[in-house]
Amino acid sequence: MTVITRTITNTKKAEKVIDEQYLAADLDEITKLQEEDRKKPLKTVIVWRNVLIFLALHLGALLGVYQTIFEAKWATLAWMFFLHVFGGFGITAGAHRLWAHRSYKARLPMRIFLMLLNNIALQNDIIEWARDHRCHHKWTDTTADPHNTERGFFFAHMGWLMVKKHPMVREQGAKLDLSDLYADPVLQFQRKNYLPLVILSCFVSAFVAFYTAGLFRYCFTLHATWCINSAAHWFGFKPYDQAISPVENVWTTVTAVGEGGHNFHHTFPQDYRTSEYSWRLNWTRILIDAGAALGSVPIKETPRRERSSSTPTLVETSLLLLLSFSNTGEKTNLIAPTRLQPPCPNKLLQGEFGLGRPMERPTSGYLFFAQYFAFSAIPFARA
Ligand SMILES: [Zn+2]
Ligand SMILES: [Zn+2]
Repeated sequence: MTVITRTITNTKKAEKVIDEQYLAADLDEITKLQEEDRKKPLKTVIVWRNVLIFLALHLGALLGVYQTIFEAKWATLAWMFFLHVFGGFGITAGAHRLWAHRSYKARLPMRIFLMLLNNIALQNDIIEWARDHRCHHKWTDTTADPHNTERGFFFAHMGWLMVKKHPMVREQGAKLDLSDLYADPVLQFQRKNYLPLVILSCFVSAFVAFYTAGLFRYCFTLHATWCINSAAHWFGFKPYDQAISPVENVWTTVTAVGEGGHNFHHTFPQDYRTSEYSWRLNWTRILIDAGAALGSVPIKETPRRERSSSTPTLVETSLLLLLSFSNTGEKTNLIAPTRLQPPCPNKLLQGEFGLGRPMERPTSGYLFFAQYFAFSAIPFARA
């Protein structure tokens, strides 16, 4: 096979995977929508019921912050940490990487496990979450994007949940094919029983620690997720695609258990890792790898274009941390020098796809448990 034939075959394969996974940003349509958006004035209709709910939640969470600092037992802190991390997995590994993007495949036990974790996070059922997220990727930064960054930081963060959805979100969203989501019995079950499931999973902790493990923890998980739509579209750098608003942001990786590689993610949304790195507390990726090691996640597909070694040196690490900290002014195109890649339009992937595990590291499952137990051990060490 000649090089040209191989390249064409690989490109077709890449496009097929993207199409099947509802991932690609529709660049032509985005340009068209943005032009139309400029002509029409925006109408903001506040949904006061949601405003009041969020207000009450945050007031309760503030009390939770006080109790967490001055009164909570170590066991409560460990419980909060557990709920945040594992509730987070329900969003990151479940609703996001598995169902919204189809970036890997999971067998029934893993899907049930992730659906149960997803209820802890209480961010609407997975079908609804995945539909919003597919809109976000396909029509990023237009009125068809539910958390359109063109409407400001607060709107992208949480304001979008307090106003009526823009008609374009519904109009464009109706064009998406969600048949794969509706065909999954696990998601159907969750949708039908959502209320009892979330009361049981999200607030069962309320009986032992209502303000701390209940309200404050829930509020913290919400903000960690929202920061991916706000901070990870603002503060950071763009080593993979400079034409888009998402950035690499280390701190959101820490709070959102591995989702801060957002410039990478919007450029390669079909990659289950959402970042080149696992060392940067990408616990979600390590969880998926652990699932694969246990046989629950049969196939993962990822473009093989990462550098042969993805473990950065100490200098690179410091540089990345510094950049993510210092570049907080505006959406600039600051590039991490060691990570410079050719601009890569979302639709056309360079390199080839490979089936199977991309970074064959059998230790990565153990790494997850080691990191987790190291964190959990802190309270006991200090008690
Ligand atoms: Zn995504
Ligand atoms: Zn995004």
